[in-house]
Amino acid sequence: MATIFSRIVVGEIPSYKIAEDDKFFAFLDINPLVKGHTLVIPKQEVDYIFDLSDEDLAAMHVFAKKVARAIEKAIPCKRVGASVIGLEVPHAHIHLIPINRESDMLISNPKLKLSQEEFTAIAEAIRAQY
Ligand code: AMP
Repeated sequence: MATIFSRIVVGEIPSYKIAEDDKFFAFLDINPLVKGHTLVIPKQEVDYIFDLSDEDLAAMHVFAKKVARAIEKAIPCKRVGASVIGLEVPHAHIHLIPINRESDMLISNPKLKLSQEEFTAIAEAIRAQY
């Protein structure tokens, strides 16, 4: 059965899309730690990020870099942090998180509750910088 993230890629499940190319897809995390919290995934269905080929792992980070540059421009922050956890959804993903302090990266922090309008505005702002 397709993962929830594969279903997002094909549009079966809605998402606040940021960017895609032939191999990768970026969209807003639905339970964001901060505004602009984005996930980057391979379209290939691989659970563990370190099971990707060297080439795909490298390309995923190059794609994530472009997304991070757009996030930096759209969301005021000191920098964009990147983390990989992957214990919840069995489809490899990099969390890109605009941060101002170390503790902004803590995945155990309470999540923001944003309205549809807020998610839409954030996604548009990041897309405009991509
Ligand atoms: P983890 O696998 O521990 O890295 O966490 C999975 C992340 O995916 C969490 O931050 C969730 O909020 C996020 N997530 C789960 N389902 C969706 C979805 N349908 N759209 C966007 N983000 C999601």
